[in-house]
Amino acid sequence: DQLISQIAAGEVVERPSAVVKELLENALDAGATQITVRLEEGGVKRIAITDNGRGIAADQLPLALARHATSKIASLTDLENVATLGFRGEALASIAAVAAVSLTSRTADAPHAWEIVGSHHAAVAPSSGPQGTTIEVQDLYFNTPARRKFLKSEQTEYGHCAEVVRRIALARPDVSFSLSHNGRTIDQWSVCEMAKRSAHILGSDFAEARLAIDESAGPLRLHGFAGLPTASKARADGQFFYVNGRYVRDKLLVHAVRAAYQDVLHGDRFPSYVLGLDLDPALVDVNVHPSKIEVRFRDSRAVHQFVFHAVQRALSQTSA
Ligand code: ADP
Ligand code: MG
Repeated sequence: DQLISQIAAGEVVERPSAVVKELLENALDAGATQITVRLEEGGVKRIAITDNGRGIAADQLPLALARHATSKIASLTDLENVATLGFRGEALASIAAVAAVSLTSRTADAPHAWEIVGSHHAAVAPSSGPQGTTIEVQDLYFNTPARRKFLKSEQTEYGHCAEVVRRIALARPDVSFSLSHNGRTIDQWSVCEMAKRSAHILGSDFAEARLAIDESAGPLRLHGFAGLPTASKARADGQFFYVNGRYVRDKLLVHAVRAAYQDVLHGDRFPSYVLGLDLDPALVDVNVHPSKIEVRFRDSRAVHQFVFHAVQRALSQTSA
């Protein structure tokens, strides 16, 4: 049973950044508006995430750490209409199989917080703290040295974690985030508009030369900002695409945006952008890969054409 858990964990928890992603999605699912991420040694030593969401009731704490204990699928039809970010009910169990996990949480109606340390077999004990949840993940892969060997340097693992925080913070300007590494605060983003959040994260070059996009056609809507190459330096990490609020790196979408830039601006420089495509969840499958970074559209040609034309039209405003 323990071995099976550890193997399953490898799929969900391939490195510290994967833990950070799952925990941030849980915090957002819980309606948090304030999230603090504290990392030590690239997240391998410690990942601690605190949110002010609705919390977990004392009797639910062991369940949260048990496999397939998701509170997010009410019925089978929900599977096709996954509104919340997580729905597999195995992230926390997988993380607990390969690290030392403690969960402290308080719901609005509880007189105080409760905590559980280690596994779903452990006893729930009284604790303290405000409404919301803190989850601490320590010594990742302490019991699976073979996996631990595949981790890169502290700075590299930290970089992956910070990238995950950036991606999520870019999609949620309505939530404040803070990120620290080895006790030092690295980033702090307060609640603001999307225009401001994207400027904070992508820098002043992007803020000064970009076009706003908001176009709809039938069930499709594209919104966000397309940077202009005149000012924005070409940077490999400045391209962000979201489908229904979820960060994706999808060939079809990247191609559509790139083709639009080439069509209008002819250059081979590829500026920064932050774009969100919203569509009926029934028209897209976001569950093709455990890390959920690729998507499959029911009508990929229509999506490609729509994205291409929307970006093309926005960019054409400048070259007219
Ligand atoms: P999933 O997110 O797929 O349901 P997880 O293993 O990530 O599964 O989490 C298990 C359960 O623990 C969730 O369904 C949720 O009820 C609870 N939970 C986890 N993290 C939080 C959090 N930060 N705030 C409130 N509830 C949480
Ligand atoms: Mg989850």
